[in-house]
Amino acid sequence: MRIELVKGDITDQQVDAIVNAANSSLLGGGGVDGAIHRRGGPGILAECKRIRAERWPEGLPTGRAVATIAGRLPAKWVIHTVGPVHSRSEDRSHLLASCHTEVLKAADELGAKTVAFPAISTGVYGYPLELAAPVAINAVKAAETQVEEVRFVLFDEAAYRAFERALADA
Ligand code: ADP
Repeated sequence: MRIELVKGDITDQQVDAIVNAANSSLLGGGGVDGAIHRRGGPGILAECKRIRAERWPEGLPTGRAVATIAGRLPAKWVIHTVGPVHSRSEDRSHLLASCHTEVLKAADELGAKTVAFPAISTGVYGYPLELAAPVAINAVKAAETQVEEVRFVLFDEAAYRAFERALADA
């Protein structure tokens, strides 16, 4: 599998699946989630509501992933995953790693070969970039998957540099 790093906006990516840093409600939020729903249109939220009602009435648990259509986005699917909120007293890196492996599992079920990830948990959920980047890179590298390209889409220079360092160290 190829791992690529790009600076940019996740909603611009022409890949089979883009990953949403969602919250467990699946009913929308800020950051990546807000951008995806704004640009993808209401069809994505409608499918999220259906998934909540049929499969996850109490919300999607942290570290899990579900796929929906991508509406008006250039991707074919959105895979929504819930990252952990960073805690200074508890190591939640296994949950962040799980987001990445569960997304790749969902991608395999869809037959998606190219997948673009944002830096999950590093926005509102407060994970320091220097901690999140190696967890994300190592989880993807270790995954057994048919996905051929994983692209990390980093929104700013600081995120890009943290992922570049993590990739060099992996
Ligand atoms: P979380 O709640 O998991 O922390 P956020 O959406 O708040 O998720 O942020 C995750 C990361 O995505 C942050 O580093 C943020 O800067 C970045 N980000 C925000 N909007 C976009 C976007 N449109 N494309 C790519 N990355 C984005």
